Amino acid sequence: MKMPLRASIPHSEFQLRIRMSLKVSINGELFDKDDAKISVYDHGLLYGDGVFEGMRSYGGRIFRLEEHLTRLWNSAKAIWLEIPIARDVLGRHIHDLLKTNGIQDGYVRLVVTRGAGTLGLDPNRTSNPQIIIIADHISLYPQEYYENGLEIITASTIRNHSAALSPRIKSLNYLNNILAKIEGLHGGCIEALMLNHKGEVAECTGDNIFIVRAGDVITPPLDAGILDGITRQTVIILAREEGLTVYEHAMTKYDIYTADECFLTGSAAEVIPVVKVDDRVIGAGKPGPVTKDLTRLFRELTRSGVV
Ligand code: PMP
Repeated sequence: MKMPLRASIPHSEFQLRIRMSLKVSINGELFDKDDAKISVYDHGLLYGDGVFEGMRSYGGRIFRLEEHLTRLWNSAKAIWLEIPIARDVLGRHIHDLLKTNGIQDGYVRLVVTRGAGTLGLDPNRTSNPQIIIIADHISLYPQEYYENGLEIITASTIRNHSAALSPRIKSLNYLNNILAKIEGLHGGCIEALMLNHKGEVAECTGDNIFIVRAGDVITPPLDAGILDGITRQTVIILAREEGLTVYEHAMTKYDIYTADECFLTGSAAEVIPVVKVDDRVIGAGKPGPVTKDLTRLFRELTRSGVV
């Protein structure tokens, strides 16, 4: 049947049709969203044994695709998982799926599981890692948080010790972050700050953290035990191009409480201001000028067609 033209369909109905016809890619094969399934014996499900990436598309193109693929391959290498597809083929599958799903500005979740195996930890008893691509519409934090800033609390759950499970690995086992997130939600906050085993500031449950002090931009270093965020990398470059000094050095909660400004970065969140931490008002209690500048620069970059 010929699809009617978009103009002839009421907007809400058009949106509904788009949503209903979303496809999911598993090992390069496309399935309707509701029929996209993997084995209950997959070690990704049984043990969180696998890796993933969360990426944004702007204008139908993945922002920083190469960086995301490098991080995925590094995460996989760190857990002795071989990804059975060439990088460029995977990149093509991602962009093809965006096109199939009619998504311009959206979110892509890329998952590689260890594959189905026996009931036991031994990864040698698994076969066929599953490569799953989900391309969907993004649900950002509500707009009011971008305008007025977020309130967060510090979770008592510390970030994984690097010698136990490196936070550099974006693994399917996110319980460390989920437990901290639940603490945040119990405290009425949608994000929570996590410290490392030394009591230093690490990152939030799904975002990296920055402060601004006397015009300088400061963020914890990678050896604080954090994910090497791709938005973090981009914001550091943008800030330096803007003539700002950026330091990556260890911080404690004191540094956050006494900062002039605070903001978070992440592929889904982009750049989002924080105005209260553990009930302390940060700076003037509203998004500060440096945060606003970097938010604008990040938006301009991502909407400019740069990938
Ligand atoms: N830290 C954690 C724990 C994350 O899960 C994420 C991604 N959601 C980030 C930081 C931000 O990383 P990126 O900018 O690459 O999305």
